[in-house]
Amino acid sequence: MHDEREVTVLRLGHRPGRDERMTTHVGLTARALGAEGVIFPANATQSLETVADITERFGGPFDVELTESPRAVVRNWEGKIVHLTMYGERIQDVEAEVREAHRQAPLLVVVGAEKVPFDVYEAADWNVGVTNQPHSEVAGLAVFLDRLFEGRELEREWVDADRRVIPQETGKRVEPTDEE
Ligand code: SAM
Repeated sequence: MHDEREVTVLRLGHRPGRDERMTTHVGLTARALGAEGVIFPANATQSLETVADITERFGGPFDVELTESPRAVVRNWEGKIVHLTMYGERIQDVEAEVREAHRQAPLLVVVGAEKVPFDVYEAADWNVGVTNQPHSEVAGLAVFLDRLFEGRELEREWVDADRRVIPQETGKRVEPTDEE
């Protein structure tokens, strides 16, 4: 993934209580599947803490931050923008173009919670559907990142972890790392 620019995920909308797990899982999925960071709405403080805690224990680098204005993040983004939506162009039709653009410029990947305002559709360079069926921002993000990186994200090495999981055919094995 070294010949590529960074990928940041922006979560639009967060209903405290109701969206807590989904917002957290957007962050954890972004981290696990190769993004450099996630930006949550300002009221998603619990999700920020959980993602930061996982990064501290299982490694990074991965940035998690809050914004008072997700729409300003979109407006001011210096790079290309993908908005994931069931109404968008088919991922299989645009993925090569997005991959090529990602070699030149940082990518912002926007996912919604409830209804996404129309100006986001207009600001996006691509509105992308992972199927044109309704499902979830976590599923859409996972498939999108895997298509973007063509599987290379699965080989990622983690730094500054205090533990690592040793893959097992059966059972659980977690070992402390040697890193300080
Ligand atoms: N109905 C809402 C709207 O009009 O924007 C979307 C609600 S959906 C539960 C929440 C988010 O999941 C969406 O904003 C989108 O980012 C993502 N999503 C849902 N289905 C998708 C699909 N087929 N492809 C890509 N993203 C999808």
